[in-house]
Amino acid sequence: MSASQPVPPGVLVGVDWGGTKIEAAALAPDGSELVRLRTDTPRSDYAACLNTVVRLVEEVESVVGATPAVGVGLPGSLDPRTGVAKGCSSTWLIGRRPEDDLRAALGGREVRTANDADCFAHSEALDGAGTGYRTVFAVILGTGAGAGIAVDGRVHAGPNHSGGEWGHNALPYPNLSEVPGPACYCGRHGCLERWVSGRGLARDYRQHAEIDLVDVAPVTAVDVVRRMREGERLARLVFERYLDRLARGLSQVVNALDPDVLVLGGGMSNVDELYDELPPRLASYTFSPCFYTPVVRAAHGDSSGVRGAAWLWR
Ligand SMILES: [Zn+2]
Repeated sequence: MSASQPVPPGVLVGVDWGGTKIEAAALAPDGSELVRLRTDTPRSDYAACLNTVVRLVEEVESVVGATPAVGVGLPGSLDPRTGVAKGCSSTWLIGRRPEDDLRAALGGREVRTANDADCFAHSEALDGAGTGYRTVFAVILGTGAGAGIAVDGRVHAGPNHSGGEWGHNALPYPNLSEVPGPACYCGRHGCLERWVSGRGLARDYRQHAEIDLVDVAPVTAVDVVRRMREGERLARLVFERYLDRLARGLSQVVNALDPDVLVLGGGMSNVDELYDELPPRLASYTFSPCFYTPVVRAAHGDSSGVRGAAWLWR
């Protein structure tokens, strides 16, 4: 879109402030993307991150020729009373006040922020794979594992802004080899995130294959899935263990909330085998003997972060 074209009324700007990249986009009211820009996150440099967000917002605005409302997805949550960041995977954000600081950096404009996984759930619930479902539990299975809950198209953050922090529940029904489990940045051991993220799958494979001794490059989750499809027995066994752990984790969500749909995002959501093989395993762990919940792939892929952030104003 060029600046000479008329800007649709109600354009919104969303920013996905992630641990590895910062992305900004302008969305028209019908959800179509007018412009999207991304750049690497200046890791461990809070001031540089603020400057990057401001620069991207200004570049997006120069393209759409307007100064729309701005929503920002953060790699963590804010204390709802103090505005101080907590529980951030980008730990250098903890203790900062990103919403206040962004508001000041953007010249006092109103800014809304939310946890990045909440933005993902919001985006998928409003016009993605969760459309038409009343209660959406959306999980990002990427380098980490974050989740968000949306009810009637709105994010449920809760009085502590910790709704959907499923990734830091402990792995349920652990066997002896899974206790205490790997250390997590949150200070505990055995968090689901450490097991069901793509990194968790790759780590489990490496530990059992001792493959780093012979491979030049570390094996990634993509490598494990490829080796499984090529018929490698170890990769298949590790993937089945991954499925079992994911089923154990999600069974607790079904028992507590019984969402109308489970939406999967992040790199692991591109593994087709999940959609056939996960539901029967889930059914074996839920309290209810019946399990009818659809398990579906996110509709917007990597775009859900910026989309959900922009929709914070919708
Ligand atoms: Zn944790």
